[in-house]
Amino acid sequence: GQCVAVCPTAALTERDSTWKVVEAIVNPQKTVIVQTAPAVRAALGEAFGMEPGTLVTGKMVAALKKLGFDYVFDTDFAADLTIMEEGAEILDRLSRHLNGDKEVKLPILTSCCPGWVKFFEHHFPEMIDIPSTAKSPQQMFGAIAKSYFAQQLKKKREDLVVVSVMPCLAKKYECTREEFQVNGDPDVNLSISTRELANLIRNANLDFGKLTDEDFDHPLGESTGASVIFGTTGGVIEAAIRSAYEMFTEKKLEKVDFLELRGMEGIRKATVDFDGLPINIGIAHGLGNARKLLEDIKAGKSEFHAIEIMACPGGCIGGGGQPYHHGDVEILKKRQKAIYAEDAGKPIRKSHENPYIQKLYKEFLGKPLSDKSHELLHTHYFDRKSKIEVNH
Ligand code: SF4
Repeated sequence: GQCVAVCPTAALTERDSTWKVVEAIVNPQKTVIVQTAPAVRAALGEAFGMEPGTLVTGKMVAALKKLGFDYVFDTDFAADLTIMEEGAEILDRLSRHLNGDKEVKLPILTSCCPGWVKFFEHHFPEMIDIPSTAKSPQQMFGAIAKSYFAQQLKKKREDLVVVSVMPCLAKKYECTREEFQVNGDPDVNLSISTRELANLIRNANLDFGKLTDEDFDHPLGESTGASVIFGTTGGVIEAAIRSAYEMFTEKKLEKVDFLELRGMEGIRKATVDFDGLPINIGIAHGLGNARKLLEDIKAGKSEFHAIEIMACPGGCIGGGGQPYHHGDVEILKKRQKAIYAEDAGKPIRKSHENPYIQKLYKEFLGKPLSDKSHELLHTHYFDRKSKIEVNH
């Protein structure tokens, strides 16, 4: 990495991981790659006095390039990949269910939120085979960066440092989980929050508001509207529906906006028509709401085929690493609006139409749920409740 703008003053020692990011950037032996989550671009501007809901994607990319990252990529690319894998898994379970397979577990639950994953491992370990096995976009990104992209660069995985900028504090914990490491080398080395990125930009004396917009690098920077909406409650399941509908019905989905899945109510329900087959969708954000839907599943009362769960109220736009919103729902709604606006403005709005995702499958992974996809993009969960009981 080549650091052009960061002056590592004492102010940067506030968070260890921020300091480690600077260390990686100034280390000439390392190629430093950064990925940014969808919700970050909808809130980072607030740290520089901009109105909530100001989209700062281009300025954020420009700032990251000026900070000295070698490649500025987008977690959204990996969100599209998550949809490919999770969408295929939903369809697999659904088809088996429709064929009368009594073993198949429904509803399928989304698995991209580490706060939620930890919650069900602790509180509902008897249901750990219900969530999708798809890794989160942060972890899929790391696994692909350190295999496929490392090969393209003709580098060893240890030569790469993958940094993530996340709206989330649970992501710091997620990237330390052992199953996301290869011989002790984590797929994602460091995760910093939106607020920490704002500090880095300030400490580098960059005038954020005056930066000229720049674009993400390729190939892991290309994304669709479907991946952008991962940042808000309801977005992951809407993105999954856009792809699953076309895969299942083999028809083109003309209307990609599923307004019935959007909103801010803590628990939402909608039925989506898969060409005559009604698919029941549930959405919960906030763990109290999630618990209600889980209790129903446990009691055998759940009416849903698929459920999206996010630990933070509002989803990642309201994450613990974002500029403080002090529980102000109006701020969250403005961030949410910014996310849907970015989606609406994207030329491609379905994950399976992302040309770089198609290329990745063609050149490297084969197809969704292939052996290679399973090895790199899927995970398993732990019963942390019994572990705790045993330890006591
Ligand atoms: Fe992290 Fe919250 Fe988003 Fe979950 S909902 S991934 S805990 S920011």
